[in-house]
Amino acid sequence: MEQHISLASPHMSEEGYELEYIKEAFATNMIAALGEHVTELEKGIVNLTGAKKAVALSAGTAAMHMALKAAGIGQGDIVFCQSLTFSATANPIIYEKAVPVFIDSDMESWNMCPKALELAFQKYEKIGKRPKAVIVVHLYGICAHIDEIVEICQNYKVPLIEDAAESLGTIYHGQHTGTFGDYGIISFNGNKIITSSGGGMLLINTENADEREAKVRYWSTQAREPRRWYQHTEIGYNYRMGNIVAGIGRGQLQVLDRRIAKKREIFAYYQKHLGDLEGLHFMPILEGTRSNCWLTSILIDGNFNVKPLDLIEVLEKGDVESRPIWKPLHLQPVFKECDFVSTVEEIFCVNAETGADTSISGEIFHNGVCLPSDTKMTEADLEYVCKIITDLWRGK
Ligand SMILES: *Cc1c(COP(=O)(O)O)cnc(C)c1O
Repeated sequence: MEQHISLASPHMSEEGYELEYIKEAFATNMIAALGEHVTELEKGIVNLTGAKKAVALSAGTAAMHMALKAAGIGQGDIVFCQSLTFSATANPIIYEKAVPVFIDSDMESWNMCPKALELAFQKYEKIGKRPKAVIVVHLYGICAHIDEIVEICQNYKVPLIEDAAESLGTIYHGQHTGTFGDYGIISFNGNKIITSSGGGMLLINTENADEREAKVRYWSTQAREPRRWYQHTEIGYNYRMGNIVAGIGRGQLQVLDRRIAKKREIFAYYQKHLGDLEGLHFMPILEGTRSNCWLTSILIDGNFNVKPLDLIEVLEKGDVESRPIWKPLHLQPVFKECDFVSTVEEIFCVNAETGADTSISGEIFHNGVCLPSDTKMTEADLEYVCKIITDLWRGK
């Protein structure tokens, strides 16, 4: 019998670095928030990515919330946000009572379409409105059209936030994702390329990075002021990362390169063994990108007789985990009142059950599957998964 194969699960270092750091924390009673591991994890991320500043937080979602606050987003402000992503990208916009406007993707990058972004700016300029921030995502470790998006944001003088939760270690023309925009966020959630058991980090790349960093540290520690007594003039949050959690993250950071190499091997294996199947296409990787290949994802031609949900089901029968592409946020009931901007002129529903539509992001969702990309997979596991898929294609 084959063992259960996960989509992506925690993979501690072979050397046991994480446990050593936890033991150290116990030995010195540095168990709670803050401590050496937190500082070292922040330094490690700054050294790796080249960000000006990094602040460790309790989650990637908390980091996004702090990025929006640091960019000055408040009630009623408009934020242009990529539609094809996990809800955590956009939820903090609502925490701040701001107004998301969702932007479609393009097929070349699966991420925010620069043309749709420009259209959105023009549409809102016409009614005398300008967003206070733009949020772009590097889904699955694929780099967005970041140069174009940076340029558009600079033209309109609007801060850019990069959601690099899934793309830690992805490099575009020598530069790490998360450092192109004014702010970047990283996640150390359990299924990400490295995990701290849960946690995140805010990257700050602005000119006034020191001042923004101090503000974020202040907000994320309950907005407590440096007085002998508890003094508050602003509403704060309990968002700081604990030292035990940071110890796990610190150990994991030492094996990030190894994990990226394995993820890339998994992608290459699937390409080699499934690349010839009719109607099957791999996620795009823009030229000049060293992707971390967090999850190998595919599209199946809409008119092909195997549907994504058939594939997910047949894998599940073989005890293999896979999942659909993120359902675009403009199609989510919770965001149904929000505006959506696309280069596609005629947008209508193509699948009443899932709610997929004719937008580019709707099409990627409708036709896409994330294949198991767990770094603990052996060659035999990969062979097993590919056999299930090729058998399905051959109609066995
Ligand atoms: C995981 C993830 C987040 C949120 O990170 P958490 O650490 O789970 O809060 C945000 N955006 C994207 C695209 C993600 O995949």
